Order: sequence, then structure tokens, then C-alpha cells
Amino acid sequence: MAALTRTASVSELVERAREGNARAVARLISLVEDASPKLREVAAELAPHTGRATIVGLTGSPGVGKSTSTSALVRAFRKQGKRVGVLAIDPSSPFSGGALLGDRIRMQDHATDPGVFIRSMSSRGHLGGLAWATPQALRVLDGTGFDVVLIETVGVGQAEVEIASTADTTLVLLAPGMGDGIQAAKAGILEIADAFVVNKADRDGADNVVRDLRNMLGLGGRHSEAGAWRPSIVKTIAEKEEGVEDVVEAIENHRAWMIDKGVLTERRIARASGEILAISMTTLRERMGDLSGRASLRKLSEQVAAGETDPYLASDTIVAELGA
Ligand code: GDP
Repeated sequence: MAALTRTASVSELVERAREGNARAVARLISLVEDASPKLREVAAELAPHTGRATIVGLTGSPGVGKSTSTSALVRAFRKQGKRVGVLAIDPSSPFSGGALLGDRIRMQDHATDPGVFIRSMSSRGHLGGLAWATPQALRVLDGTGFDVVLIETVGVGQAEVEIASTADTTLVLLAPGMGDGIQAAKAGILEIADAFVVNKADRDGADNVVRDLRNMLGLGGRHSEAGAWRPSIVKTIAEKEEGVEDVVEAIENHRAWMIDKGVLTERRIARASGEILAISMTTLRERMGDLSGRASLRKLSEQVAAGETDPYLASDTIVAELGA
């Protein structure tokens, strides 16, 4: 395999990445992080190869064991011979490019495995933010032949709930001894689970968390609707890699159910719709930026200031110009 040159073209990068060249994958992800104009070409090259990866989201409060579980899952999928990509999404951190995950000891175990690609991403400074960047990074990993992509959300905020619209299967992690069992879980987070992972099962109280979850699932909400998926509940000791095979099985079961019911296709259509909207918003925002110097805006502003027209009518003209 020839060395990857600094000036490699997009199609060369895609070809190399698909052959398993980690640096080519990293370069493509960097194009996403930099919101490079080349992404249009990247997306076109990748499109025929996308739609194959199993996309798994992991979420839960800080300290619950997401990073440990992600690492254990990577190992389990590697045992099956699968290529695994990991995206750690931190909406609050200014760091990106591996600073976060790279510091985590367990992830170092995979650092030299060419079948594993790990990247931390932050939304700061990105036009369009996380909603734009995560699906594009996912597109790169999916289109370059990663069989499984694990998306771990770190930190707080909307990202935890947004992950559910990005992943095929969302794992919500809980642990005993963290607040008052499931009552301590953030609003909305229990609703998005396709499987619950009760980690730290070596600690007292894990069975109580499982019991609370079972009760909750029987009490109504999205999970009790007719024909809805009943999320599995799996106990793990991620630190000892115990129960991880059961998590893999829960992911596989959910996937089989989604394929059977046509839900997987629907989720992917919904994700594509989100991508189209995020890209459109970015494009429109860029055009808005261009507008500020335009003569037409100046003229309309003068008319509004003089009371000759109103800002709503003026905005109709501007919006029509944006679409042109
Ligand atoms: P994250 O913040 O959700 O990513 O959590 P981490 O994976 O960083 O784990 C937080 C802490 O919990 C670390 O000190 C881990 O070693 C510990 N931990 C992870 N899994 C287990 C487990 O199954 N049992 C116990 N007792 N500790 C665990």
C-alpha cells in the first residue's frame, strides 16, 4: 500500500479509508470537524457505501460507566471480527480530536488496533453544531466500512436525548448508588432507551434499579404503546467485562425486531431528514451572512426605517432572495 500523501484527493482518501487506512479515516473526520467545503465531494463518494453500519448510542449520567462500557463493547465486537468506530460527543467541551477519550486509560487498549477508530468531538465553534457534525462523522465511518459505530455522549444537555435520533439502538446506562436509582435519571432519558444497562452490578442496589425499571415499564409511556419495542434490561459489571455479551445480544435482538417491523428503515429516513435540514440551515445561515453587505438589504432597511414598508414584508423579499 502506497503512503498517503498530504495532497491526497478526496477519492484517494475514501479509497484508502475503505481499505482500512486509519490515517485516511482520521483525515476524513477532520474534514467534518473543519466543516471543509470538500465535504460535498466526500458525501458524494461515500453515499453508495453507506447504510450498513450498526449504530449504537450510549448515554447516562457522568460516572455511570459509559466509557468503561464502550471499551468493553469495542472488545466484544472485535472478537466477532467487526471493525468498530467510536465517537465521543461532548457538547460542553472545547476539546476535540481525541483529547478527551485519548486521556482515558481503557481506550488506550485499543489505540494500536487498526480495526478500531476512536475520536472525541466537540460542537463548539461549529456552524450548525452537533446536530450537523455527528451525522457527518457517522457517515464517514459507515461509508468507510465500519461495521459498528458506538456514539458515547459525555457531559450534559440535549445531546443525551438527541443521540436517540442518531443511533439505531440507544443504550441508557444506570448504576446503583447514584442518587435514588431511576428517580435520579434525567427527565426524558428513560423514554429514549431501547435497552437499559444497569452497570456496577457488583454494588448493592443493582437489583432494586432493575425492579424499578420493570415497574416503570409497566406504568405506561412510549414503551407500553401497542406494538412498541419492550426494552431489555441487562445487568453488567463493565469493569470486569461481565454481562457485555448480553448487551451485544440485546443490541442484536433490537436490530432484528427493527428490521422485521420496518422500523430500521424509518429511523434511517428520519436521520437523513435531520441531516438534510441541518445542512440546509447551515447553507441558509451562510447566505444570510453574505446578505448583510448587500445593497438590497440596505435599501429595504432604509424603507423600513422610513416607515415606507414593514419588516415582515421586507423579510419576505430577503427570504425569497436566499432561496434563489
Ligand atoms: P462515565 O463517566 O459514564 O464514562 O464513567 P466511567 O466509565 O469513566 O466510569 C466511572 C467510574 O466507575 C470509574 O472509576 C470506573 O472504573 C468505575 N466503574 C465502571 N464500571 C464499573 C463496574 O461495573 N463496577 C464498579 N464498581 N465500578 C465501575
